[in-house]
Amino acid sequence: MAGLRFDLRDTPPEAPALRAELRAFLAEAGREWTPMVRAYSWMGFDREFTREVGRRGWIGMTWPAAHGGGERTAMERYVVLEEMLAVGAPVAAHWIGDRQSGPLILRLGTEEQRREFIPRIIRGECAFAIGLSEPDSGSDLASLRTRAERVPGGWRINGRKVWTTNAHRCDFMIALLRTEAQPDPKLKHQGLSQFLVDLRSSGLTIRPILDLVGEEGFNEITFDDVFVPDSMVVGEVGQGWKQATAELAFERAGPERYLSSLPLLTAALDDLRAEPAAAEAVGRLLARAGTLRQMSLAVAGMLQEGKAPEREAALVKDVGNDWEQITLPETIRDLLDPARTPPQVTEMLGIITMVARSYSLRGGTREILRGIIARQLGLR
Ligand SMILES: Cc1cc2nc3c(=O)[nH]c(=O)nc-3n(C[C@H](O)[C@H](O)[C@H](O)COP(=O)(O)OP(=O)(O)OC[C@H]3O[C@@H](n4cnc5c(N)ncnc54)[C@H](O)[C@@H]3O)c2cc1C
Repeated sequence: MAGLRFDLRDTPPEAPALRAELRAFLAEAGREWTPMVRAYSWMGFDREFTREVGRRGWIGMTWPAAHGGGERTAMERYVVLEEMLAVGAPVAAHWIGDRQSGPLILRLGTEEQRREFIPRIIRGECAFAIGLSEPDSGSDLASLRTRAERVPGGWRINGRKVWTTNAHRCDFMIALLRTEAQPDPKLKHQGLSQFLVDLRSSGLTIRPILDLVGEEGFNEITFDDVFVPDSMVVGEVGQGWKQATAELAFERAGPERYLSSLPLLTAALDDLRAEPAAAEAVGRLLARAGTLRQMSLAVAGMLQEGKAPEREAALVKDVGNDWEQITLPETIRDLLDPARTPPQVTEMLGIITMVARSYSLRGGTREILRGIIARQLGLR
């Protein structure tokens, strides 16, 4: 039975200076952020903030200098993420591009695609959405039906995507589409391909879906004879499943999988100091956060070494989700005295309680992740 491996690591020697620079920047940039902005955290979309992050060299930090990247280490990037998440910075306008679309284009894109997209992502001027889920294909993603058919000079797309976060605010989407009819459900992973789709394309309709908080967080997208040129195919036609699942390992590994609710703890700390029962409970919360951080850093280290820590990443997301979705908000709700809690903390607690419902769904559901862990441990 294959085991789990979490080697202890620390952030690099450059970390304290980088952290200080980030904290100064975020204190200034975040002066006007409301509890709503901070509670929404990495789903929050703010182009101007993203452009400023880009100007400071914090997008594409690890990418090759030949494409405008910073050639810094994955651990330095980790420090940037930690600091942004800790204050609930609205990072969504560059987040997907930095985390997965940019790396995918660098790894498998054509030279033309790299020249077109990478510098714009680094400057914070091209925002990406993730086009995986469909109305009847979420956990069972490979059953997706949105078709791209060959036509002269490119492809014609018909079908629907759903739950596409921030698509109405983004520029492009990387869509996983069916390029070969697959009548045998056992072979459903074959015949899929990835495309760069311009979200302003003719025939493409984006309909926002309200979330529990009342925000237009995600969307349904309808493709009605949308034309995409050949130059927008990413990687190899027919290899989309392998490409997309490799991307998911990056999506599940980062500190965003346990730190989404941290701004609530920071906001509530002053008031918790006045509650006699709080010290032990807060100590337990922080001890758990410290353990999760070590596990998450271990995964980041393995990714930096070119390994594929799929089961460890799934475990961090699963255990991390429990902490950010349940343990942290519920502990704080139990500890705070409503009569004495400032309205902005109460507001943040309310929003996070609602938003946190989604944490165990987005990026792969809790049940699916547990299935991956069990299978990889040889338990099923
Ligand atoms: C906030 C948020 C943002 C999102 N953003 C995006 C995005 O940008 N792009 C995108 O493509 N998608 C996005 N998604 C969609 C997300 O990936 C899907 O919701 C997720 O994959 C689950 O699919 P589903 O909603 O169809 O649920 P289903 O697959 O129908 O699952 C419903 C329930 O059944 C359980 N279940 C399903 N199959 C099994 C099984 N085999 N064994 C045990 N239990 C099972 C699931 O765990 C879940 O609890 C987002 C979702 C959320 C909540």
